[in-house]
Amino acid sequence: MNTLSSSTSTALPLAGKTAFVTGGSRGIGAAIVRRLARDGAAVAFTYRGSPEQAQALAKAVDAEGGRALALAADAADPAAVRRALAMATDAHGPIDILVNNAGVLLLGSVETFTLEDFDRTWDVNVRAVFVASQAALPRMNDGGRIVNIGSVNGDRMPFPGGAAYAMSKSALQGLVRGMARDLGPRRITVNNVQPGPTDTDMNPEKADFGKSLHDLMALQRHAHPDEIAGMVAYLAGPDAGFVTGANLTIDGGFGA
Ligand code: NDP
Repeated sequence: MNTLSSSTSTALPLAGKTAFVTGGSRGIGAAIVRRLARDGAAVAFTYRGSPEQAQALAKAVDAEGGRALALAADAADPAAVRRALAMATDAHGPIDILVNNAGVLLLGSVETFTLEDFDRTWDVNVRAVFVASQAALPRMNDGGRIVNIGSVNGDRMPFPGGAAYAMSKSALQGLVRGMARDLGPRRITVNNVQPGPTDTDMNPEKADFGKSLHDLMALQRHAHPDEIAGMVAYLAGPDAGFVTGANLTIDGGFGA
């Protein structure tokens, strides 16, 4: 018997699943929204400062035959995130996949970095991950998936000015390990994707800073956001049920 062809299915890998993505209006988050929707999930995503881009993305996904709902919610505002999660589950049902993607990159030397920027970095990059996960869990099906977008800067910070950002992404490494232990009994996996330089508004490949990063990399180019979304889709999908508590780096050899 040809087992390969007999097990081949035309069903989309995330058919019947629901996903909630923070910071989905632009960049990596938008690529994740598109990819999860193409894989069959009904996706709700949040935005803060880019309402037009968020609504355009939701329309584009719908036009492709997918389902996407754009919701305004500052990731640093627990009440707003809880409201958005309630709206998402009202529209699509309980959540199977939570992607904590929203993040900020505020740069400055430790000698001059303000406490306001330190607090904002912490609130959006770390506290918001805890807040959204805690708020999602009562609405999440057992066997669900939580995927955070960390950074290779959690492992390696090869330029000055990134202390707070690197700290925030290192903090996620410990958070996923501990959360994976807490949620194992519910078969909910918790993982951290750690991109290297990725061509978005945060880190445009063509900018001087972006180009300077290529000398540090084996592949000497930025990732396309779709490449990062591919790893998220793997972690959200049926093949990754045994992956948990992991920090998975996708960085073109930045940390090699
Ligand atoms: P962009 O700046 O291009 O996009 C950021 C996204 O996050 C936007 O959709 C933005 O929405 C949203 N966002 C930011 N702050 C908030 C907030 N407070 N509440 C809700 N949404 C928010 O960044 P990237 O796409 O590059 O980054 C996405 C993630 O990937 C971040 O966590 C970042 O740290 C990480 N990363 C990026 C790398 C890169 O080289 N680009 C490398 C490694 C990690 P809006 O515009 O609506 O406010």
